[in-house]
This record gives sequence, structure tokens and C-alpha cells, in this order.
Amino acid sequence: MVESICRVCGLDEDDERWSRSGGAQYVICSCCGAESGVDDLDLKWVRDYRSKWIAAGCAWFSPEERPADWELDRQMGGLPAAWR
Ligand SMILES: [Zn+2]
Repeated sequence: MVESICRVCGLDEDDERWSRSGGAQYVICSCCGAESGVDDLDLKWVRDYRSKWIAAGCAWFSPEERPADWELDRQMGGLPAAWR
């Protein structure tokens, strides 16, 4: 299955972060800045990265991409159960 949802923050940018065959595409998330294949290799890494990002105030990596009505909880609601 192609993964387009960020494992850390749940943002779906339609970019292919992980290919159908499970290959990392090294896409940097516009929201949390995590790079697929680097910061999201397993659940522990994902949770560690997420904790640090949230503790630092959830700043967008690319602030110009941030929707005016953005809400972390709503976005994280789209996270696959395996990455919560
Ligand atoms: Zn993200």
C-alpha cells in the first residue's frame, strides 16, 4: 500500500512517502518536518519525533503550507492505528 499520510503528524499531502513495495521516498513533511525513511522507521521513532515536535510547539516545517483552520487533533485523527 502506498503511504501518503505522515506517520508522525497525520498530514496527507498526496506525496508518496512510502511506496507500495515499502520503499521510503524520503519526503519531508510540510507540517512536522519528519522525513520518511529517516524519522519514521518504527513506532518508537515516530512517537519520539512526535513528542519532541509537540513539546516544541508543533511548528510547521513549511509555514506557508499551514491551513488557516489547521488543528492538530483533527489531523492526527487521520493517523492509521499502527502509528498512534
Ligand atoms: Zn508530519
